[in-house]
Amino acid sequence: MEVKECVKCGKPAFYYRPYSGEYLCKGCFVTSIYDITLQTIRKYEMIKYGERVVVGVSGGKDSVSLLYILAKFFKGNEIIAVTVDEGIKGYREEGIQIASKIAQQLNVKHVIYSYKQLFNYTIDDIQEIKGKYSSCTICGIFRRRALDVAAKELNAQVLATAHNLDDVLQTYFILLTNGDIERLKTFNPAVEKSEAFGIRKVHPFFRIYEKELAMFAMLKGFDFQTVVCPYMAQGIRSEIREFLNKLEEKHPGIKYQLLSTFMQLYSERIKVEGQFCKKCGWPSKGEICQVCRTIDFLNSNKYKLMGGKDEFLGSNQ
Ligand code: SF4
Ligand code: ZN
Ligand code: ZN
Repeated sequence: MEVKECVKCGKPAFYYRPYSGEYLCKGCFVTSIYDITLQTIRKYEMIKYGERVVVGVSGGKDSVSLLYILAKFFKGNEIIAVTVDEGIKGYREEGIQIASKIAQQLNVKHVIYSYKQLFNYTIDDIQEIKGKYSSCTICGIFRRRALDVAAKELNAQVLATAHNLDDVLQTYFILLTNGDIERLKTFNPAVEKSEAFGIRKVHPFFRIYEKELAMFAMLKGFDFQTVVCPYMAQGIRSEIREFLNKLEEKHPGIKYQLLSTFMQLYSERIKVEGQFCKKCGWPSKGEICQVCRTIDFLNSNKYKLMGGKDEFLGSNQ
C-alpha cells in the first residue's frame, strides 16, 4: 500500500484529515492542533494578554490537553485549573488526582469545587429523586453554575472549557430534538458571554474533532482518565454521539460541515432579556434561575406530582 507523505514536511503521514484533505505526520499533526487552537483563540478574541483564565479540568483527555496548551502558550496570563467534583463514587476521584498531577507539573494552581458544598446534593445522592430527568441534565445545570462560581470567586475574566467539535454538535442536536429554537439561535459555540459578572466563557477546541484530541493527548503521552461516568448512558447525548459517529464513518468530514452550517444560524442580534434570580441573584431567564428550580425540585421531589410536563428544567442535557 502506498504510504502518503505529510503535506507539511514530506515524512510518512500517519493521519488523513478529511475536512481539509491533509495528510499529516505525527509531528505536524501535533503542531496542527496547537495552530488550530491558537487561531481559534485569536479569531474569536477568547483570551487577552494579562487576563486571569480559569480552566475547567475534569482529568479527561480534552481538558488535560487544553490546560497544557494554555499553560504552554499563555505565559502572560495567570491560568488556574478548576475541577468540579460531582460526587460520583468510583469515578470522580481518579479525575481529581489526574487534574491535580498535571496542574502541579505545569505549575498551575488547582482548585476543587464540589456540588455537595455548592448545592447540597451529589450526583450519587439524586439517583432516587431525579424523576425522569437524566443525571446528565441535572449535572449539566450544576456544572455550568459551579464553574461560573469558581470563575467569579477566583476573579477570572475568562472561563475556558474543553468542549470539542463533537460536544458542540451533540448540543445542537439536543436543542433540535427539544425544539429549543431560542437557544439554537443564540448558541455560540465559540464564546458565551456572562455579562453580569464580566466573565467570558470560551471553548478553544470547538473546531477540533474529539478523535483528534484523543490522538493529540496520546501522542503527547498525557495521563488522562479513561473510565466513563456510570451515569453517562442515561441521557440522549450518547445516542446522538453514536449517530454522528456512524454518519462520519460513511461521510468523512460531515461533522465539520455540520458545525459550519449550525454556526450560520447564530445571530448576535437576538439577545435574551437579562434579569436576576430572586433566590440566588445570578443571571436568569425567568424570576427563578434553572439552578434554584432544580434544587427546589430535588428538595420537594415535585416531579412526581407534576404529571410529566417536561418544562420544569428546560432543555439542557
Ligand atoms: Fe455528569 Fe452525565 Fe458527565 Fe456523569 S456523564 S459527569 S452525570 S454530565
Ligand atoms: Zn510532517
Ligand atoms: Zn437562582
